[in-house]
Amino acid sequence: MLSLLKKIFGISIGQTQQEQRQHPLRLERIIIPSAIWHQLISMLEPYGQQRYEGAALLYGFISKSNEGIVTTAVCPKQYNTSRTYEIPFESMSSVAESVIIPYRALLLAQVHLHPGDFTDLSPKDMKKALNRSIPGGIQIIMPHYGNIQPEQNFVVHENCGNGAWRKWAASERDSRILIMPYAVDLRSFERVV
Ligand SMILES: [Zn+2]
Repeated sequence: MLSLLKKIFGISIGQTQQEQRQHPLRLERIIIPSAIWHQLISMLEPYGQQRYEGAALLYGFISKSNEGIVTTAVCPKQYNTSRTYEIPFESMSSVAESVIIPYRALLLAQVHLHPGDFTDLSPKDMKKALNRSIPGGIQIIMPHYGNIQPEQNFVVHENCGNGAWRKWAASERDSRILIMPYAVDLRSFERVV
């Protein structure tokens, strides 16, 4: 059980660094393929339309230069109201079975919707953060329940350790969260002569 919990919270144990990189104290950048980013937003959309605080998780791997590479967006089974959300333990077991255990993926960011333009982490948010004990862990908040341009209109908080979180300025967000094209098609179909 301890092992499962540690896997859920993004800590690898019993594995060498060659097998899996542990979460570093600071993720230099997080690279999110655009298709995954848009899938995340569309999975959160039904919550936003009902004006509920929906939540989703971004999983992936960490490069040697401490960049988080997102491979999978997960929307766990959850309970939602207009002011809060709850991801029960059983839901996290399903997440573990889907992405953590088979692929050894790490939690790179937790995302949730907020009412209005409130983008701070509430004390409840800090308690519920799956990466609350992981310095360098990332929480993303989409204000207005994600209903106003969620692609650009989101705020990032970084776990500084000892229960403290730091809110990024927009410029830091833009330089450290990169939405990368998931496919680039440069074919021209010209005849080779
Ligand atoms: Zn919140």
